[in-house]
Amino acid sequence: MARDAEDLYVIKGPKTIYEMTSAEVGALLERTKTVLIPVGATEDHGAHLPLGTDMFEAREICRRAAASLTALGCPVLIGPTIPFGVSTFHMGFPGTITLTSSTLILLLKEVMLSLYQHGFRNLILVHGHDGNLPQMMVAAQDVVNETPDATVAVMNWMVELAKAYAKGGLIKSTKGESHGGEGETARIIATHPELVDLSQAQEFYLQPHELRKIQSPEHMKTGGGIFYPTRSYKALTPVGSIGNPALATEETGEKGYAVIVDWLVSIIKRDFFDEAQ
Ligand SMILES: [Zn+2]
Repeated sequence: MARDAEDLYVIKGPKTIYEMTSAEVGALLERTKTVLIPVGATEDHGAHLPLGTDMFEAREICRRAAASLTALGCPVLIGPTIPFGVSTFHMGFPGTITLTSSTLILLLKEVMLSLYQHGFRNLILVHGHDGNLPQMMVAAQDVVNETPDATVAVMNWMVELAKAYAKGGLIKSTKGESHGGEGETARIIATHPELVDLSQAQEFYLQPHELRKIQSPEHMKTGGGIFYPTRSYKALTPVGSIGNPALATEETGEKGYAVIVDWLVSIIKRDFFDEAQ
């Protein structure tokens, strides 16, 4: 068939549920009861990254984790990538789509319960947008409350990645990289370089007291004990992103994915395969 448009990007690697037939899912169910569900967002990430950044990241993390797990003899289904999340605080930037908390909770529950109905018993939610974590946790608890034998987990890899950043050597920047900054931009360059426009990247850093409430060792999203709900990004950053995206490279993106995926794979293998009944 003749192509009338240039390819924007090509995906290589394992199929997700969207690329599989029903019969293929049925056959996989004979070998596994475990499914990874990428939970993304459609939201502004600065002038240099696409609105689907969090959706692409969540899907990529799950695809890489699934490939590693399968190679270790622990097959998993890569479930549907949820394209929307709670992105209220990015609504100051055109194109952002947000769900209310109750909609996201219900959406996640109904996706998980559909997969449960087909026989999946281990339901693992993997975020691409940490703003969805509170709703993911509520949905996870609700599904466990409503089923006799489902095991649900919410995987927040940000804590592991933040530890790796703090150790040094992973990213070039020594300042506060956050939303759409060096690390996240690098991960999109690693998989979707055609969708990154570094000529539009702008350097912008938050004051330390501002960053502490977004992403810091004290914040629950990145390993601490305090949860600060997020306020409007438009008021925080005029450019939408935080950090210096121009420092990002494919190599840094690959290293970041490796940290995230190694952690995910080790936990999923331990909790859902090695120690499973
Ligand atoms: Zn993001």
